[in-house]
Amino acid sequence: MGMPGVGKGTQATTLHEQLGVPHISTGDILREAVRQGTTLGRRVKGILEAGQLVPDDLMRELIAERLRQDDARNGFVLDGFPRTSEQVGILDAVLSQLSISLDGVYLLTAPEEEIVRRLGGRRVCPKCSAVFHLETRPPASAGVCDGCGSALVQRPDDTEEVIRDRLRVFAEETLPIVETYRRRDLLREVDATGAPAQVAQRLQQTLEGVS
Ligand code: AMP
Repeated sequence: MGMPGVGKGTQATTLHEQLGVPHISTGDILREAVRQGTTLGRRVKGILEAGQLVPDDLMRELIAERLRQDDARNGFVLDGFPRTSEQVGILDAVLSQLSISLDGVYLLTAPEEEIVRRLGGRRVCPKCSAVFHLETRPPASAGVCDGCGSALVQRPDDTEEVIRDRLRVFAEETLPIVETYRRRDLLREVDATGAPAQVAQRLQQTLEGVS
């Protein structure tokens, strides 16, 4: 968990590589649906572009279907879900049906000014979802994805006005559920300032229970 732009996607990708479990990003799944123009994609396109949250009922179906897939049997890194108190209940219900429980909830933290700077420079690969940054994580060749060679793009919700809305949605809807997981004694906070490799190291130490 963490504010938009704090580095959840980047860190979840690293964890996916280290742990060999799928990285399940609800944002990536929704963006892919928009790109492919599916029924779901057509319903959520405007919502994503405005930085608002997709209704919980649509998210219920999406997450239940994804977590039931075979590759999630031995664990997964969930990124971007849950984001509302209703979604905490949805996740609890799905996990209980599958007889699995969460090992931990990791909250990445950074000051808001750093977030706005990061989001403004963020560029993503529309094909393989790799994340780059103009200053801190530039691709080897300008404007081109290191992984698959596609042209990098700026997410439509990374413009300054939409960034402000997304931060407000995070404060109103998502911050309260951080407290839910703190009360459940599952929450671990990780300082997400600095280079991605440094953050990955802190996250790794937290995962191993080393402080
Ligand atoms: P992200 O890539 O996690 O920043 O998500 C991008 C956008 O997808 C968000 O601004 C929402 O519009 C939508 N989205 C992703 N995850 C959720 C969720 N759990 N609940 C509602 N909307 C979501």
